[in-house]
Amino acid sequence: MVSVLPTEEGNVAVVVRVRPQTQQEQEGSRHAVVQVIDDSMLVFDPEEPCLSGVFTGFRGHDAPKRRGKDLKFVFDQVFGESATQEEVFQHTTKELLDGVLNGYNCSVFAYGATGAGKTYTMLGSEKSPGIMYLTMVELYKRIEARMEEKSCEVLISYQEVYNEQIHDLLEPKGPLAIREDPEKGVVVQGLSFHQPKSAEQLLEMLASGNRNRTQHPTDANATSSRSHAVFQIYVKQQDRVVGITQDVQVAKMSLIDLAGSERASTTNTKGERLREGANINRSLLALINVINALADAKSRKSHIPYRDSKLTRLLKDSLGGNCRTIMIAAISPSALAYEDTYNTLKYANRAKEI
Ligand code: ADP
Ligand code: MG
Repeated sequence: MVSVLPTEEGNVAVVVRVRPQTQQEQEGSRHAVVQVIDDSMLVFDPEEPCLSGVFTGFRGHDAPKRRGKDLKFVFDQVFGESATQEEVFQHTTKELLDGVLNGYNCSVFAYGATGAGKTYTMLGSEKSPGIMYLTMVELYKRIEARMEEKSCEVLISYQEVYNEQIHDLLEPKGPLAIREDPEKGVVVQGLSFHQPKSAEQLLEMLASGNRNRTQHPTDANATSSRSHAVFQIYVKQQDRVVGITQDVQVAKMSLIDLAGSERASTTNTKGERLREGANINRSLLALINVINALADAKSRKSHIPYRDSKLTRLLKDSLGGNCRTIMIAAISPSALAYEDTYNTLKYANRAKEI
């Protein structure tokens, strides 16, 4: 597989992960609308529908061909249904760890509609933990390997942006304010920091933080999530040299499970839900605008609209400049998610091109 490490010119890499169909999807619709060609190409809505994993020989040759959009998309990396958590980690976030250990902030986003596999990719399950966990394990490994030369401290925080408010997911309390500190960068006042003592404790923290995420049942999806979950890892390093002034280097990695990107209009949006929907679009839209502006070399010196939402204010020091960003677009291959998948691919494609 090719490296997806963002280059100097474009600090945003875009990868796509196609999740397997659920049993319900397999029963509900016959064909998949996404066909993975290789590790960088996929076809959306192929001309000849691929019956996900099913032998197609029974189709009579007189049967009319289904007409599809048949759109080819190329990304920095495409992960098919069988890609493991470890593979996705190895070819995305793992490569950013060098940057963090060299003092650069970086960020990884999971983007996509509700049900597309964002939380699975970032958080995962107890049996197959996702990027957040795998990143920490790898980070500890690397720090251990350089123990002789550097002393290192690692802290984590886990927060959510919901309804344009910031909440601590590890020590829930009232909404928290953001301020910008000339030395420390973006600071969320009152946010708790933690130092997990073991892999098990980290898993438990992630799971309990996730349980604290705001979730509301809607007509469209009983567990649809309207919150953006932001897991941050702070790495503080110091050379182990006796007798001379030692530089302290601090860097931060942000791993973000974004709220569903589906349009609010497709769900029952009234009253409170409508406001939530509007705010989700605001944070997502602001993020999209910021990433587009940053990735566009021509606009690099022009105004980057960080202040348009809480999410972009929070990530101001983790996007742009020397910060590397990976966008993981999660999609379902099911015909039932046709519009969502199409919209996600179109967005991911735009993010890649600029
Ligand atoms: P989202 O966070 O985007 O709303 P989820 O991550 O919750 O979506 O995924 C929806 C469902 O699909 C969950 O039951 C999840 O376990 C399952 N799922 C998602 N991605 C995968 C995958 N790559 N392999 C197996 N199951 C997956
Ligand atoms: Mg989710």
